[in-house]
Amino acid sequence: MHPGGFLEVITGPMFAGKTTELIKRVERQIFAKRKAALFKPAIDNRYSEKEVVAHNGLRYEAFVVPTTEEGVERIKEVTLTEGYEVIGIDEVQFFPLSIVKTLNELADRGIYVIASGLNLDFKADPFPVTKELLVRADNIVYLTAVCTVCGKPATRSQRLIDGKPAPRDSPVIHVGGRESYEARCREHHIVP
Ligand code: ADP
Ligand code: MG
Repeated sequence: MHPGGFLEVITGPMFAGKTTELIKRVERQIFAKRKAALFKPAIDNRYSEKEVVAHNGLRYEAFVVPTTEEGVERIKEVTLTEGYEVIGIDEVQFFPLSIVKTLNELADRGIYVIASGLNLDFKADPFPVTKELLVRADNIVYLTAVCTVCGKPATRSQRLIDGKPAPRDSPVIHVGGRESYEARCREHHIVP
């Protein structure tokens, strides 16, 4: 069912199933004969250049756009000129803050916008884009992963450098998969 103009945010830590959930929701709209597209930032080339790929191997074709103002403009332009009724954006936290206004506007125009991204960085500080989207969202899908230390629900992303917790002063953006990040609960999330 297409909810009409709607802004939905899928969030949580790494490995929570955000990308899987995004693909699932977009795919269901395609089954419902809605014109739908996925977008992803060019920075995230972990698994594929032209597809959104989840940690479990699930994949879907996507428009790859730069994480600049032009990239945000391109999402809007492609959506409006191609007449997409549903758009999904993965790793939304990597885009400039202007994406918040753009996605909100697209939802105002009747588009079902599904944005998926991290709420917190490796220090457990908020990503501003996700934070701003969350307070404007019509629906929030909050997911947790499994703590790699104790098996409890994980709400944090632990960055590791040579297997050890990354210090607070390391750069916020470092795209990686299982080799540099682990899902952790509050107790086992360490930022030296
Ligand atoms: P996200 O986009 O939130 O990072 P994905 O949808 O790409 O998540 O991947 C979710 C998948 O990651 C799960 O279905 C599972 O197979 C795998 N996975 C690996 N480590 C974990 C973990 N610690 N907790 C939960 N799932 C994990
Ligand atoms: Mg993901």
